[in-house]
Amino acid sequence: MNILVTGGAGFIGSNFIKYMLSKYDYTIINLDLLTYAGNLHNLKDVEHIERYHFVRGDIRDRELLNKVFQQFEIQAVINFAAESHVDRSIDNPEIFLNTNVLGTQALLDTAKQFWKVNKSDKYCTDYKENVKFIQISTDEVYGTLGKEGYFTEETNLSPNSPYAASKASADMIVRAYFETYKLPVITTRCSNNFGTYQNPEKFIPLMIHHASNEIPLPVYGDGKQVRDWLYVEDHCSAIDTVLHKGRIGEVYNIGGNNEKENIEIVRTILCYLNKNEDLIEYVQDRLGHDRRYAINNSKISKELQWSPFYSFDEGIVNTIQWYLENMSWTTSQVPIPN
Ligand code: NAD
Repeated sequence: MNILVTGGAGFIGSNFIKYMLSKYDYTIINLDLLTYAGNLHNLKDVEHIERYHFVRGDIRDRELLNKVFQQFEIQAVINFAAESHVDRSIDNPEIFLNTNVLGTQALLDTAKQFWKVNKSDKYCTDYKENVKFIQISTDEVYGTLGKEGYFTEETNLSPNSPYAASKASADMIVRAYFETYKLPVITTRCSNNFGTYQNPEKFIPLMIHHASNEIPLPVYGDGKQVRDWLYVEDHCSAIDTVLHKGRIGEVYNIGGNNEKENIEIVRTILCYLNKNEDLIEYVQDRLGHDRRYAINNSKISKELQWSPFYSFDEGIVNTIQWYLENMSWTTSQVPIPN
């Protein structure tokens, strides 16, 4: 299979490419713009592999997308490429809408045209066999929960941040291409990931960086916001499962059954690094900060027999150790917030 992975130089995409190259003999084409969040160093272990190709470019560049689909005869798209940081979306929503919505639509249009059986028929809804478009979305599209309950695939989309709204909009356009053009799409909505090669602007690597350097750890509000956490390799195995066994037109929630308050994670990191809790500094809460996310992942676990392999404790130890051993990687990512 020839798979186009977009955003493959980022956190989850780079982990996914390495996971897939080591498990299958597929050809992987990584299309990434290399924004501040993309780093080819994440892929240095695989850059010599002949069936891995890197193309620098923008998912909004339709001419380039056509060339890539033709040159590599793309059979599957896994769309990771996105602006992904909520805080940045609060400061500058426009780039989020541009990349996350219009970029997704450019990819859908290219896949539709390239995979159509009868290219001259404007209304053709027959596609080549076994082609698939997987949209990588997030549980943030569902909004926020109270103390009880879980997001299921039937939960209404109620995004609160500009980031979440851009991802929900992309989910809607993906759905529309299935309903209108019968394009073979599947959407996954995953909870918060953590693991190796995550940009230090994100919560867990930021806390590890600050704790290990004894810089005050900025915790939003009262620190009692709850997130469900999934080790990145488990997200990769879930996407692999959806790619091979998922039903076309469906949405699959992916979660780790690891609900944690932010402050609990901060304390875990400080304890592991043997640092004093005095380093915790409560700062003004993020605007519109969602209180709780929790995923019901029974659909993917019952229907596709996927479940996470790593416990939260195993994942966080691996992650902390990796950041300690790769401090120069962290400091090469700019800028690290205060
Ligand atoms: P990331 O910010 O680490 O990586 C994003 C990648 O996309 C970068 O390599 C960047 O260079 C690339 N990119 C950005 N704009 C592009 C464009 N216009 N064209 C081509 N490439 C472009 O993000 P991540 O954390 O790896 O997230 C990947 C995907 O997974 C995103 O779609 C995100 O919404 C989704 N997701 C992330 C999480 C999480 O916890 N990190 C959870 C659920 C879903």
